[in-house]
Amino acid sequence: MRVLVLGAGQLARMMALEAIPLNIEVQAFDVRSDQIVDPINQQVLGEGLQQALRDADVVTAEFEHIPLAVLEPCEQSGKFLPGSRAILSGGDRRIEKALLQQAGVASAAYAEVHSKAELEEAVQQLGLPLVLKSALEGYDGKGQWRLKQIEQLDTVWAEVAQFLKQASKKAKQGIVAEQFIPFDYEVSLVGARGKDGQCVYYPLTENHHVNGVLSVSLPRSAHPLQAQAERMFQSLASELDYVGVLAIEFFAVADRLLVNEIAPRVHNSGHWSQQGADTSQFANHIRAVCGLPLGDTSLLRPTLMVNILGLDQLPDCVLGIPGLHLHWYGKAPRPGRKMGHINLAADSADALAQHFAQLIALLPAEDFPELAQMQSRIS
Ligand code: AMP
Repeated sequence: MRVLVLGAGQLARMMALEAIPLNIEVQAFDVRSDQIVDPINQQVLGEGLQQALRDADVVTAEFEHIPLAVLEPCEQSGKFLPGSRAILSGGDRRIEKALLQQAGVASAAYAEVHSKAELEEAVQQLGLPLVLKSALEGYDGKGQWRLKQIEQLDTVWAEVAQFLKQASKKAKQGIVAEQFIPFDYEVSLVGARGKDGQCVYYPLTENHHVNGVLSVSLPRSAHPLQAQAERMFQSLASELDYVGVLAIEFFAVADRLLVNEIAPRVHNSGHWSQQGADTSQFANHIRAVCGLPLGDTSLLRPTLMVNILGLDQLPDCVLGIPGLHLHWYGKAPRPGRKMGHINLAADSADALAQHFAQLIALLPAEDFPELAQMQSRIS
């Protein structure tokens, strides 16, 4: 069996590593170079997309910002899971918001904005503060502006208009203005839906961001909002007739969840499942798209994940911490780039907190800002 993944980054690599023991081969299409590569070592395999599509049994994706010229032949192959509608919903906030409404799933109230007059209307209708987000290519807080007070409207719109002008040659860029949600915390639900419609869910995971980028994920068993999150997952996954892993990011406001965004793929906030669950999100995605039974998703032991941003080395001694696993992605370092992650698992919440403290002491503080503040949330 061969799976072709659109995108050749770390998510494709971790899928490929989980596919090996199942005797499933994974190839990746590098959208930037237009080449088919082995996602584990980036070796070029020399086929074009068309040939790779013919040779693959299943086609899937590791990211949602895929050009239409690539998506179309994938859809036409009849092998593409979770399918173009899901990918487009993850890649364009306008389609995503419409999908959320259609599926009856709560999210921040919003308006599409194309001009200063429409922004003024949005302020009238939705109030302030507003978060303005680029409809396309927005991720990790990129392409976002905050409008807190009406006096800032001219300045903020000038920046947005400049952004739109620069982007105008690309696909139809736009702006979604949404109400600012004074959330209590952020959680995500990663789940998988099989070809038979059966769904499995990992426990809700608390996510801590630094400058809009995920820093630490902490899965929580028996979270009081788990059932609510699963119902929202069901509605979205059924609406899309989804097959594969789907991640939903939420704002938690008291006892209510509002969807922030969806990712039609394996997700950074599910990386802990490599050590904290019997079946990782990568293995379950491969199983789902290949029509195999899905594996157990429960949290086996207290676990957390820390992202490594911009660094390609850590002191070797971190591996001496019990239950610590390093996952490097083999990428060239750039400031802020996701280079790898650390999974830390322990037999009890106390042991996890203790080992987390040991880890923080060994990591360069300037490269892991705010980690110490998260210590209190672990136990
Ligand atoms: P996003 O790229 O949409 O996930 O946004 C990045 C981060 O910005 C989120 O994880 C939130 O912390 C924050 N954010 C985004 N949208 C809103 C909103 N409507 N209200 C409050 N915070 C937001």
